[in-house]
Amino acid sequence: MAAQTRPNHCAAPHVRPPRTARRIAVIGAGAAGLVAARELRREGHSVVVFERAGGVGGTWIYDAAVESDPLSLSPRRRVVHTSLYESLRTNLPRESMGFLDYPFLAKEAEDGRDRRRFPGHGEVLRYLEDFARDFDLGRMIRFETEVSHVGMTNDDSGGGGWMVRSRRADGDGEGEEEMSEVYDGVVVCNGHYTAPRVAEIPGIDTWPGKQMHSHNYRVPEPFRDLVVVLIGGSASAVDISRDIAKVAKAVHVASRSAPPGTELKQPGYDNMWLRSMIECAHEDGTVVFEGGGSMLADVILHCTGYKYHFPFLETKGIVTVDDNRVGPLYKHIFPPLLAPWLSFIGLPWKVAPFPLFELQSKWVAGVLSGRIALPTQQEMMDDVNAFYSELESSCCPQRYTHNLSNYQFDYDDWLSAACGCEFVEDWRRQMYVATSENRVARLETYRDEWEDDHLVIQAHEDFQRQSK
Ligand code: FAD
Repeated sequence: MAAQTRPNHCAAPHVRPPRTARRIAVIGAGAAGLVAARELRREGHSVVVFERAGGVGGTWIYDAAVESDPLSLSPRRRVVHTSLYESLRTNLPRESMGFLDYPFLAKEAEDGRDRRRFPGHGEVLRYLEDFARDFDLGRMIRFETEVSHVGMTNDDSGGGGWMVRSRRADGDGEGEEEMSEVYDGVVVCNGHYTAPRVAEIPGIDTWPGKQMHSHNYRVPEPFRDLVVVLIGGSASAVDISRDIAKVAKAVHVASRSAPPGTELKQPGYDNMWLRSMIECAHEDGTVVFEGGGSMLADVILHCTGYKYHFPFLETKGIVTVDDNRVGPLYKHIFPPLLAPWLSFIGLPWKVAPFPLFELQSKWVAGVLSGRIALPTQQEMMDDVNAFYSELESSCCPQRYTHNLSNYQFDYDDWLSAACGCEFVEDWRRQMYVATSENRVARLETYRDEWEDDHLVIQAHEDFQRQSK
């Protein structure tokens, strides 16, 4: 489905039957929580956003501090929310990364802004701060307020209200103020890049080296002159391996997708190899790779992704996280038995997140007000079960349930249609594909060299029309 005319992105929805205003709690003021708050308020709801940090932006608030447990497994560790490393630049171009009706423009007139097409993380944070300021979202947000419990008040449908317990640092840092309040509905936007997944390695318990997860990686200096085995093949694994290779003695990137016996020197590097997955580790410090080959290594760095984690949420077993599937959820958002009172924004991955969050938020807001109808509970459950069967018959691992890489734009279009607004612009889809292809063709330089300038021009023509 292609965009027909200039998208109006639902600022004024097509259908306007009477709406019911609800009292809604949003958990988190990252990109998802911010746009959810804006859409819920636009729809007429009364919104309180709970945010445990002191500012907006979520994962984009860089923190040089890391957790006390470098693998982030100890339940007693102090949790650091962000997983950003100092050198991080976006892996999407700013034109396709920004919200649909609030372009992520390179600000010519302002000092200190990063105008690159794939800017550093600080620029994304400033964009989100601008978004919050320009839509006056701060008034809805309770900063430094952590939600400790969310649960149904008195029935099992969620329609009787939701208890939200929160605690807020009391200002002088000497105590906490606890609060319990009842809301009509809760929108969960707590992010999913904070609770690490770690690879299981036979023999690791007696291996004497240091292990850490990329969640706790910030800068390369601690790896100077060391032999590092880095596990993973994601965007972060690619970035971090290159960062570390500048100072390390050797970097061995162990990837599940490399066949047994792989040992490939990486083009342009004297000290970096692609290897097959780790088979085991030994107490003499050796790391052995599948299909042969081993070495003495100092560090194993797990760039192995994250788990969905909702430590505050009590749904009496209606919503579970099983092998990284949050479910059952209709369209990755509503648990059928608790809809529309409980919803999740931002679960899909391998997507352009901000536009997708925006469309999810519009749908949730419209459903909560009664402007948009949901199917019956049974129809939603049937849809979820059909989706799970489809994943199973295509041999897709359960942990990939929320990986939308093959159909994110069809999903966006489905949401747009459900909300009664126009489809996401065609150039966004094309730019996403062009960037993915360019990343494969120019792994080292894709952020500074590209061939889709014609799409950048189309994007800017659209932005200009939008601003009139
Ligand atoms: P978050 O940004 O994580 O926000 C969640 C918020 O919830 C946080 O502020 C947190 O403090 C708050 N919170 C959590 N629990 C509680 C609680 N109990 N009580 C109160 N508040 C709570 N996306 C892109 O578009 N482009 C990129 O280039 C890109 N690069 C990335 C690189 C890395 C290393 C990572 C980890 C992610 C990257 N992403 C990128 C994806 C990024 O996560 C999304 O863009 C987006 O920022 C996620 O927003 P969110 O609101 O869902 O979650």
